[in-house]
Amino acid sequence: MSRKILVTSALPYANGAIHLGHLVEYIQTDIWVRFQKMSGNECWYVCADDTHGTPIMLRAEKEGITPEQLIERVHGEHFRDFSGFLVGFDNYHSTHSPENRECANDIYGKLKAAGLIDTRTIEQYYDPVKQMFLPDRFIKGECPKCGAKDQYGDNCESCGAAYAPTDLISPYSAVSGAKPELRNSEHYFFKLSDPRCEAFLRQYTARDNGVLQPEAANKMQEWLGAAGENKLTDWDISRDAPYFGFEIPDAPGKYFYVWLDAPIGYMGSFRNLCAKQGLDFNEFFKADSQTELYHFIGKDILYFHALFWPAELQHAGYRTPTKIFAHGFLTVDGAKMSKSRGTFITAGSFLKTGLNPEWLRYYFAAKLSATMEDIDLNFEDFCARVNSDLVGKYVNIASRSAGFIAKRFNGELAPADASLPAIKAIQEAAPRIAELYEAREFAKAMREIMALTDIANQYVDSVKPWELAKQEGKDVELHAACSNALNLFRLLTVLLKPILPVVAGKVEKFMNIAPLNWGDTQGLLAAGHAINAYEHLMTRVDPKLIEKLVETNKESLAPAVNPENSQKSAESQQRHAQHQQNEVKAESPWEPFCNIDDFMKVDLRIARIANAEHVEGADKLVRLTLDIGNNETRNVFAGIKSAYDPAQLVGRLTVMVANLAPRKMKFGMSEGMVLAASDTTGTTPGIFLLSPDSGAQPGMRVK
Ligand SMILES: [Zn+2]
Repeated sequence: MSRKILVTSALPYANGAIHLGHLVEYIQTDIWVRFQKMSGNECWYVCADDTHGTPIMLRAEKEGITPEQLIERVHGEHFRDFSGFLVGFDNYHSTHSPENRECANDIYGKLKAAGLIDTRTIEQYYDPVKQMFLPDRFIKGECPKCGAKDQYGDNCESCGAAYAPTDLISPYSAVSGAKPELRNSEHYFFKLSDPRCEAFLRQYTARDNGVLQPEAANKMQEWLGAAGENKLTDWDISRDAPYFGFEIPDAPGKYFYVWLDAPIGYMGSFRNLCAKQGLDFNEFFKADSQTELYHFIGKDILYFHALFWPAELQHAGYRTPTKIFAHGFLTVDGAKMSKSRGTFITAGSFLKTGLNPEWLRYYFAAKLSATMEDIDLNFEDFCARVNSDLVGKYVNIASRSAGFIAKRFNGELAPADASLPAIKAIQEAAPRIAELYEAREFAKAMREIMALTDIANQYVDSVKPWELAKQEGKDVELHAACSNALNLFRLLTVLLKPILPVVAGKVEKFMNIAPLNWGDTQGLLAAGHAINAYEHLMTRVDPKLIEKLVETNKESLAPAVNPENSQKSAESQQRHAQHQQNEVKAESPWEPFCNIDDFMKVDLRIARIANAEHVEGADKLVRLTLDIGNNETRNVFAGIKSAYDPAQLVGRLTVMVANLAPRKMKFGMSEGMVLAASDTTGTTPGIFLLSPDSGAQPGMRVK
C-alpha cells in the first residue's frame, strides 16, 4: 500500500551561501525522497529559509537594505544553489511568511493554554549606543580563564572554555564597541522542565522507541538525566525589540526567538504547499495522523529537534515526528573545511567551475550511512571513484552497445535473455537495494550496485560486441549481445536514478522509455522496442577542475556582500571555458524559462536622463535623475561609472525598471534600475547602456 510521507531538511539560515557541508544533508534527503517517489509512495519534501534573528537584522543594516530585501535575495541564491544540485523540493518557502506566523502563534497559544509558557525577568547585557539587548555572540571581551582578548560571550576560541557573557573581563559590544550595561527584561519561557514534558520525552526518545538513531538516543538520556533526576531546563523563547521576527501575540515589543519559529517553519512551508496542491494539512499533522513525518538534520541541532520540537508538538495537540535522522559533518581531505586552504567550498563555485553536480551526489552517496559519523570528501578519491564507477563501469555499458543497435539493427532491440545470470542478479538484488535506500545505507547500496555493474561488464566483455561486429554472419549474436547489454544498463539506471536524476532522464530519452520507477527492475524491454540515438551521458572528472575549484574558494575569502561586485571576472572566464567541455545541466548560460505573466511583472519604461553626477565616495556609482514622463522623476544609482562620464549621459534616453522596490543605499534611496548589457563571460569588458530607437518618449512602456 502506498505510504503518505512528509520529509524535511533543516532550514538554512538566510545569512550566507550554501556550501558543500550543507549539501551533505540536502543530497542525502533528496536521494531518500526520490527513492520514495520512485517506489510509488506519496512523498512530499519541504524546506524553507530560516530568516529571523539578530544576525539577519544587523547584516541587512550593514548592507543598507531592509531585512526583507536581504532574505528575499538570499532565498533566491539558496534556491538557485539547491536546484543546481538537483535537490527536488516540493516547496521551498520562508519562515518569514504568513503561514509560519499563523503556525507559530497557534502553537504558542496552545502551549500557553496548557500552562507550559512562563515569564520571568532575566538580567542581560544591553548595548546603550545601539539600544538593543546583545545575544552572546555579539558580546566580546577577555576570556575569564586564559585572558585571551576578543573572545565571544559564550566560549573562548583560544582555550575552549565555556562561560556566561557576564563572566567576560572588560566586555564590549561587537556591534557598536560600547561597554554593555546589565539590564533587566521580562522573557517568555517554554517550560521544558515541566513533569509532563519530561515524562513524554523519556518515552519518546527512549532507545527502544526507535525514533532516534541509537547514538542520538544515548545522547538524549544524558540530557534528560537518570530517572528521578530531571536535567531539563526551561527554554527562553523571547527576544526584545529591536528584533527581526514575529512579535508575540499580546506581548508588544517581545518577539519569538528565531529557534522557536524555525522548526515550525516545516509546518509553515507544508501549509503553503497544501494550499497550492489541495492537500489536507490536518491529515499530516493531527495527533493521530496515519502519515509519516521525517526530519533530516545535522547532529549539531539534535537538541532542538529531539527535545524542544517534539515536546512542543505533543503538548500543542499535534503529531510528533516518526523519526529524526541526524547525520555527521563533512570534512575535506581529512580536515575541517577551511577558507584559507580553499576547502570551504560554496555550492555556487562548484557549479560555476564546471563540475557536474551528479558527481558530488554520487560521491556523497558512496560515503553516507545511517549513522552520525562524519564523512570525508577526499578529492583524489572523488576523481577516482567518479571516473571508475560512473564513467568507466556504468556509462561504458551503454556506450559500447547502443551504437551497434542504431547502425546495424535500425534502432530495434532483440528479445532480452531473461535467464541471463547478470540480469537475474540485478533483479534479485533490487529488493535488497531498496531496503538499503529505505534505511539510508547509501554507501552499502552503492557497493551492491557497483558489484552488479561489474557483473554486467563481465557479460559484455565475454560476448565482445565490437568483435562480433567485425565478423561475417554474426548479426544474430551481435543483436542479442547489444540488446542484453542495454537491458542490463536500463536495470542499473533504475537502481542509480535516486542519485543521478539527470543521467537517468537522458537514458529514458535515448532508450525511448517512460520515466523509470523502482518496479521497472523486474521487467525487461520488449523485442522490437526502438531506441533513439545514443546521447553522451557523462564526462570524466578532470583533476584540473578540482585545482581551479580550490583556487576559486581561496580567492573568495572576503565574502561578496554586495551583489554588484559578486561577479568575479576570473570565475566567469573559467565558467565560459568549461562550458565547452562539460555537460552540466545547471551550467546553462540562460536563465530558466519564465512565463509571460512573470515577465509582465517587470514594468520597463523609457526614461530620459535629466541629470547625471558623480557620487562622493563611491567608485562605481553614478547618480541619475530619470524623467519617466507624467512629470515624474526617479533617483537611481547605477554602477556604470567605469564606462560613462556623467556629462555625456545627460539628455539621452534609456530603459529603466520602474517598479523595482526602492532600495536604501549608503548614498540615498535608489528608485529603480537602468538596463545595461555586459559580457558575463568576461571576454569583452565594458558596460553598454540600452537606448530606444528614435521617436520613443519618456514613460512609454517597453514590452
Ligand atoms: Zn580562554
